[in-house]
Amino acid sequence: MAISPKPETDELARVLRTATHAAISFRQALPEGAQRPEANYAAMRRAFDRPLPEVSATDHQALIEDLAARAAPGLHATTGPRFFGWVIGASHPVGVAADWLTSAWGQNAGNHEAAPAAAAAETTAARWLLELLDLPSTCSVGFVTGATVANLVCLAAARSAVLRAAGWDVEADGLEGAPSVRVLIGDDAHTTVFLALQVLGFGHRRVTRIATDAAGRMQADLVAAALAKDSGPSIVVAQAGQINTGAFDPFASLSAAVACHPRAWLHVDGAFGLWARASHEKAHLAQGIDLADSWATDGHKWLQTPYDSGYAIVRDTEVHRRAMTAAASYLPAEAEGERDPSRYVPELSRRARGFATWAMIRALGRQGIAEMVERHCALAQRFAAALATEPGIRILNEVELNQIIVRFGTDEELEQGDTMTKEVVARLQQEGVLFAGGAQWRGRTVLRLSVISWPTTEKDVDLSAQSIIEVWREVKRRDDKQPRTDSPK
Ligand SMILES: *Cc1c(COP(=O)(O)O)cnc(C)c1O
Repeated sequence: MAISPKPETDELARVLRTATHAAISFRQALPEGAQRPEANYAAMRRAFDRPLPEVSATDHQALIEDLAARAAPGLHATTGPRFFGWVIGASHPVGVAADWLTSAWGQNAGNHEAAPAAAAAETTAARWLLELLDLPSTCSVGFVTGATVANLVCLAAARSAVLRAAGWDVEADGLEGAPSVRVLIGDDAHTTVFLALQVLGFGHRRVTRIATDAAGRMQADLVAAALAKDSGPSIVVAQAGQINTGAFDPFASLSAAVACHPRAWLHVDGAFGLWARASHEKAHLAQGIDLADSWATDGHKWLQTPYDSGYAIVRDTEVHRRAMTAAASYLPAEAEGERDPSRYVPELSRRARGFATWAMIRALGRQGIAEMVERHCALAQRFAAALATEPGIRILNEVELNQIIVRFGTDEELEQGDTMTKEVVARLQQEGVLFAGGAQWRGRTVLRLSVISWPTTEKDVDLSAQSIIEVWREVKRRDDKQPRTDSPK
């Protein structure tokens, strides 16, 4: 054939190199710059909004340069060293590079024939995950977008198992007319679990919310009592790593209570907390968690894989597959020793997520992951200790993991404390030395700090603590100067 691939190859190389350069300059600028976007959503709307393009672009390199330039002011420093907002990993470069290849390769990771490399990488990554998290090697793992969908997959498996034990085939016959399933869930569970329950037909209002202690831990005796009262199909949804306090539900007691029940399933939402299992030092927090029936966790939080990456882990592989496999599948069945990624997730065509996970686990290794988890927990302790020295700043949780919640002002005047805390959050975000957000905890506004980014060092934590203290002093000074008109007493 006389067709030369040259011009196209050049175009391909140009366009990919342009993206690489843009990515590198973005990442390199992060540690120095303000740890927040310069432009808000409204400004970004203006930047991106334009009429539908009618004709093909001729210069793809310019197009990618233009995309990078438009997006730049509206990008958050989530991958930077002083990002403590929400609970967000930092997209490690090795994971990003593997993810770029994933896109470039364009594999459809539905089954092992369409994507042998993708399916094989996933098979090994799944085994590594189970070893790292110290879960039974016979569990199955579905590679999904995040813990939200991981919870959905695990709870679909739970629904299938508890109903089957009651003589009902939910995959074939649906929920209408099915025996009633009781769902017991901690009062401080993550909102996305309620979404999963809602999608699965359990209703977020219909579930039984179990009271929690001061740290947000589900009270195991209440769960045991509820289970003892009713032997019908039951699902207990527990949590490893509460989003504000980092607390773990009492798994040893919960597993014991569930084991006494003939038709109960224990599911764990461990989006970030499950990674405590990867560290000898922290594993005790999750003691007994391996006795559960299913676990949801994220790669894009503590493992630092780029978005999106989550894992749905189920003890009973057959139940997992039954809940996720289309009965009328036209796809060939797997032979002995083969594994189709699509059998464990509610998707067929999808990104080959196993590559990034495989690469990240290789990059950090078992020791590196353990050290990172321990380092983040130690940094969180250091952060909390530094803040607690300042009058008027209080740490509201016991910092056993990587999460810190901080309150400013006195508690005698609840509203004043809320106002001051909001003011501190707003000023911190304005200054941009670090990024953190506000949250609500036990009816109070708090500043939430999550230490979970691989580039964060002691220096970053010290600098950030100093910045928070200075902002607080400034807020207090201004408040002292203001005449009090709103005397509540
Ligand atoms: C982040 C988080 C989720 C949701 O996970 P996504 O990855 O955002 O889908 C669920 N539960 C907990 C405890 C979380 O921290």
